[in-house]
Amino acid sequence: MGKRLTRLIEIRQNDVECYQQLSEFLPEKIFDVHAHIWRLSDYQKSMNPDSRFVSWPSRVASENPVEHLIETYKVLLPDKSVIPLMFPNIPSGNNLDNINDYAEICSKKTGYPSLIFSSPYWSAEDLERRVQKGGFLGAKSYMSMLPENIPANSIRIFDYFPRHQLEIHDKHGWIVMLHIPKDGRLKDPENLKDLLEIDERYQNIQLIVAHVGRAYCDEDAGNAFEILKKTKRIMFDISANTNENIFFRLIDCVAPDRILFGSDMPITRMRMKRITKNAVYVNLVPAGLYGDVSGDKHMQEVKGKDAEKLTFFLYEEIFAFKRACERHSLGKNEIKKIFCDNAERIIKKARNKQKERYD
Ligand SMILES: [Zn+2]
Repeated sequence: MGKRLTRLIEIRQNDVECYQQLSEFLPEKIFDVHAHIWRLSDYQKSMNPDSRFVSWPSRVASENPVEHLIETYKVLLPDKSVIPLMFPNIPSGNNLDNINDYAEICSKKTGYPSLIFSSPYWSAEDLERRVQKGGFLGAKSYMSMLPENIPANSIRIFDYFPRHQLEIHDKHGWIVMLHIPKDGRLKDPENLKDLLEIDERYQNIQLIVAHVGRAYCDEDAGNAFEILKKTKRIMFDISANTNENIFFRLIDCVAPDRILFGSDMPITRMRMKRITKNAVYVNLVPAGLYGDVSGDKHMQEVKGKDAEKLTFFLYEEIFAFKRACERHSLGKNEIKKIFCDNAERIIKKARNKQKERYD
């Protein structure tokens, strides 16, 4: 097993040195609220990717079985004990039941909590039954669950997390992992309107806005953080985001109680550095490592010394967050909340509600 995984993630001296600077900052126990698991065998090779959404993540890993996830933590966060909140990758074809079955099996085997990947076409009863039967603690979904003839920019949050389903999540205090839609990202007025509505109407739901609302560039936030100051409950994970300014503004907006560490594994196994160019994020990657990226506006190759300096996406995320915490003078306790305690709290709440039914 060790041999195969050395090939899965190659560690260089530069990576070791980077991690030395992060290890001190991180608590001993880490909760990763955003980790994808799936087996390649549940996906058909012939499926065409949904052209409405980015495709570069598929270049990093063709699968991420739970064994890979566990090994990734051991290699990248070697002195920490890491617990994931796991869920499937985006479904393709007719594999929704298969990928959810796999998440259920992995959760039972490892004891790690997991979320179902929900379809917006399920009735309230259907969602409730499936979540409870599989022992899930809530749901994740995605815009690609909607028919391909619907333009990406017309999609609203309630289209893939319909209100009748949010009511079920709310009733049980379940966790909803939300990847928000639209090119406008966090600052989009319709997204902000819908987030405010969820925050106010569903007071028991544990909603996590993934990747800080996909605000990867400074320009993606607009006045969102001023508006989101009105919210009381919704939470944000920092997964796959490396923008220090956005993190700084987030901490100012919602305080550490509503911020959660997430990795978005396996994508953050990627070797890269993210820059922004004309308000678009660009991942700088070592030439050749991720195939032909010439057609992708989010990817750019670098060579020689510049390439040698590139470390893992995960480390870039934590470095940026660390700098934002330092600018806010956050203490160890607050950092521990973000990297562990907040996640433990929401999982406990979702679990207790599950248990109440049987007590
Ligand atoms: Zn994700």
